[in-house]
Amino acid sequence: MRRIYLDNNATTRVAPEVFEAMKPYFLEDFGNASSIHWYGQRARAAIEQSREQLARLLNARPNEIVFTSGGTESDNMALFGIVEASRSGQKHVITTTIEHSAVLQTAEALEKRGVRVTYVPVGPNGVVDPADVEKAIGPDTVLISVMHANNELGTIQPLEEIGRLARERDIYFHSDAVQSVGKIPVDVEKLGVDLLSLSGHKLHGPKGVGALYIRRGSVLRPLMYGGHHERDRRPGTENVSGIVGLGKAAELAGEHLAAEIERVGALRDRLEQGILAGVPLAAVVGDPSRRLPTTTNISFDYIEGEGFVIAMDLRGVACSTGAACSSGSIEPSHVLTAVGRSREQARSSIRFSLGHFNTAEDIDGALEVLPRVVEQLRSLSPHYKKDTVSPSPAGAKALADR
Ligand code: PLP
Repeated sequence: MRRIYLDNNATTRVAPEVFEAMKPYFLEDFGNASSIHWYGQRARAAIEQSREQLARLLNARPNEIVFTSGGTESDNMALFGIVEASRSGQKHVITTTIEHSAVLQTAEALEKRGVRVTYVPVGPNGVVDPADVEKAIGPDTVLISVMHANNELGTIQPLEEIGRLARERDIYFHSDAVQSVGKIPVDVEKLGVDLLSLSGHKLHGPKGVGALYIRRGSVLRPLMYGGHHERDRRPGTENVSGIVGLGKAAELAGEHLAAEIERVGALRDRLEQGILAGVPLAAVVGDPSRRLPTTTNISFDYIEGEGFVIAMDLRGVACSTGAACSSGSIEPSHVLTAVGRSREQARSSIRFSLGHFNTAEDIDGALEVLPRVVEQLRSLSPHYKKDTVSPSPAGAKALADR
């Protein structure tokens, strides 16, 4: 069976060039970058080259890049690091309701330590209004953390405006850019961020490696204590092969960025238009004009998301729901409920996310099986049968909105 991978926001395939670049750092150049001998210096040089490659992609200085174990650690480092280094008495943090759990759970942990946190809501389009962020700012605000692109909807947040607000008031500004780096231009100067998180495995690099951009002069308390690695920001022997992979992935992403935005964006549109034309009662969730070119989130009325993902998987197509399985029950995604979807609507939403290795054949292959999967699942739904035979008020509205 031909397999089609449309879940690139979950993780991506490592690019062959990235894999090739990493290989020598397992078998030949395996030194510890802190060692002063030849082996150590080979590893050190490779790390510094990756730092330059990544800095170039972000329009940052190499010494503003700290390598971490991934997006989660970078988010934790930014939030804990800034708040714990702040000397103000009462501390206030502003974030949004659609952040990844790596930010939301960190914010909740800060609340348990007495920090006040405001979770600014987003509109039904999945975009935060900078005016709402401005209203939340108080005299004790030490940090604003707003993601760049949302992982479920792909919606892009107005960072430039929020960055200006933060700068005018001398408040640190962090962005979780795990989903945007390598997919759209990310320029730390233009965006006005002081801290920015990214992760290797979302841009065809390896898993377990990421980075935090930290603007020169920012004061952070480290998350961990140990050696003097990464300019005392992040102790621990560096993951040399992973860092080399991340650097190479950043270089490749930068080289292909403009062309890939066009190519992958056209594939995403072909998929989206094919679905909307071929499947009744399907609708795009999130602002279509402010989105990653790689992502679409589509709700299918009368479909249960997990059933759909499993049925598609059985036909060789990988996609996903935003739902999280917790304590034995499936909870609808907090992002979809934050944009005003009901529990049922949230559970009927599917994310399709594309990457560098997707082709037009993938899209056509997915479009070939998808309408039949929806039809089959709906034919098993008692609500669908009831509403379409004798429409209930909700069903009639859904049918009228088609
Ligand atoms: N932030 C966002 C927006 C993400 O999508 C993810 C991964 O899904 C993360 C953070 C966590 O990154 P990592 O898997 O590298 O820890």
